[in-house]
Amino acid sequence: MSSENGKLAAAVHIARMLRETGYEAYLAGGCVRDLLLGRAPADYDVATSATPDVVLRLFERTFSVGAHFGVVLVALGDEGNSVVTEVATFRSDGAYLDGRHPDSVRYTESAEEDVKRRDFTINGLLLDVNRAAQSAADLRQDVLDFVGGLADLDAGILRAIGRADTRFEEDHLRMLRAVRFASRLEFTLAPATMAAIRRNAQSIAQVSRERVRDELTRMLTEGHARRAFELLNDTGLLAEVLPEIARMKGVEQPPQYHPEGDVWEHTLRLLAQLEEGCSATLAWGALLHDVGKPPTFRRAPDRIRFDGHVDVGVAMAAEILRRFRFSNDETRQILALVENHMRFADSQRMKDSTLKRFFRLENFKEHLALHRMDCLGGGGNLDHWEFVRQRWLETPAEIVRPVLLVTGDDLIAEGYVPGPTFKEMLHAVEDAQLEGSIATQDEGLALVRKRFPKPTNALVPPASSSAHQL
Ligand code: ATP
Ligand code: MG
Repeated sequence: MSSENGKLAAAVHIARMLRETGYEAYLAGGCVRDLLLGRAPADYDVATSATPDVVLRLFERTFSVGAHFGVVLVALGDEGNSVVTEVATFRSDGAYLDGRHPDSVRYTESAEEDVKRRDFTINGLLLDVNRAAQSAADLRQDVLDFVGGLADLDAGILRAIGRADTRFEEDHLRMLRAVRFASRLEFTLAPATMAAIRRNAQSIAQVSRERVRDELTRMLTEGHARRAFELLNDTGLLAEVLPEIARMKGVEQPPQYHPEGDVWEHTLRLLAQLEEGCSATLAWGALLHDVGKPPTFRRAPDRIRFDGHVDVGVAMAAEILRRFRFSNDETRQILALVENHMRFADSQRMKDSTLKRFFRLENFKEHLALHRMDCLGGGGNLDHWEFVRQRWLETPAEIVRPVLLVTGDDLIAEGYVPGPTFKEMLHAVEDAQLEGSIATQDEGLALVRKRFPKPTNALVPPASSSAHQL
C-alpha cells in the first residue's frame, strides 16, 4: 500500500469509527479540495463532532498536541510505520484580538459552524466517507458544501468565506494564504476578496516574520512563483513584506543586455523558471539576485549602469534574510548566490586556478542553476553557462581541491620562519598545482625558494624554537 493510499485509508477508517460511535465525522479542508481537483493531498484531516476527550479514548495511540484548539493526532498502523491523522473537533472561533489567534474556541456540534470559521470556500468542503465512492462524480455527491465551495472550485475562484474584510482583520496571515492558493491552483481572487486584501495589506506587518517567511518560501517553491509575486504586487502585499523587491518596478535596464524590460520583469522571469519542489535557497537567491540594482541605477554616458550592484545587493539581502530570521546555513548559501551571480561573465577569462576555486563554492550546482535562469530571464545567451557547466562536470573533486603538495610544516622544515607570508607561499604553491604547472613536492618547494628567497644573512633557527618568534 503506498503511503498516499495509506493516509487516505487511515482518515477514512477514523471517520467511519467516529460515525459508528455516534458522531459526525468528515474529511475536511485541503484534502477534499485536492481530491476534487485530482491533485494528491499533502495530508488528510478529519473534522468531527466528537470532543477531544472522546477521540483520545476511542483510539489507542493518540497525541493531544493541539488539544487547546480541539486537535488530536491519531496514529494507526504498526509502530515505526504508522500513519498520523489530524482529527479536529468542530469549533467556532471566538474574537481575534491580536490579528493572529482566536482568543477562545468553542466546540460545536454543527459542521456548518465549523466550516464558517475556515478561510476560503474551496477550503471549506467536507467529504462524507460513509459510502465508498467509486468515481470522481460519486465523490461530488458525498460533499457537504455550506459555502459555495464546489461552484468556486469549478470556476477557479478563490473567495473568502463570509465577509472578506472581517476574515482578514481576524487573521492577517490569511491574506498571504489567499495569494498562495490562488497562484498554486491558478485561480483568480474574487473581486471582493481582492479588494479586502488591498484594504488590509498594511496589517500584514503584525504577523510574525517567520510565518510570513514560510508563506513566501512556499509561494516560491510550489512551481508558480511568478504568478504569486504578481499577485503579491496586485494586492499591495509586496510593498509591505518586501519593499526592496517592489522598488524594482520601473527600474530600466540597458536594452542590449536586457531586452525583456525592467528589473522587475527580469526578476519575474527568473521566478517563472523556479520548479515545483526547488530548494528555498535557490528560490530566494533568484528573488534577491538583483536586489541591489534599484539603488545603484545610473544613466552613464554610454548606457545604463548598476555599478556595485552586487555588493549593495549582498548587503541588502543580508538585511532581508536577518529580518525574516533565516537560519545561518540558508543565509550563507543565499548570500553566496547573490554575491557570485556575475562571476560567470568572467569565466572564460579565468585562470584555471581561479575557475577551480570558483567550483569550491558550496552547492555549486545552485550557482549554475541561478546563472542559467538569469540568462534565460534576459538576453538568453547561455555561452558562459555551457562553458562553466562543461568544465565543472569534467573536473573531479580531487582536482578541484587537491591534496596540497606543500604544507606549513614543509616550509618550516625548509627553514622558513612561520609568519604572515606563509599564507602567500602556500597559496602560490596551490595556485601552481591548480594550474597544473607543478606536480610534485620538490617542484613546489623549488617554486617557493624562487619566489620567496630567504634573506641570506638571516640565521634560521631550528623549527622547535620558532614558535615564540611569531
Ligand atoms: P495545504 O495543501 O497547503 O496544506 P490546506 O488547505 O490543507 O493546504 P492547511 O494550512 O493544511 O491548508 O489547513 C487545513 C485547513 O484548515 C484549511 O483547508 C482550512 O480549512 C483551515 N485553515 C487553515 N489555516 C486557516 C486559517 N488561518 N484561517 C482559517 N482556516 C484555516
Ligand atoms: Mg494541509
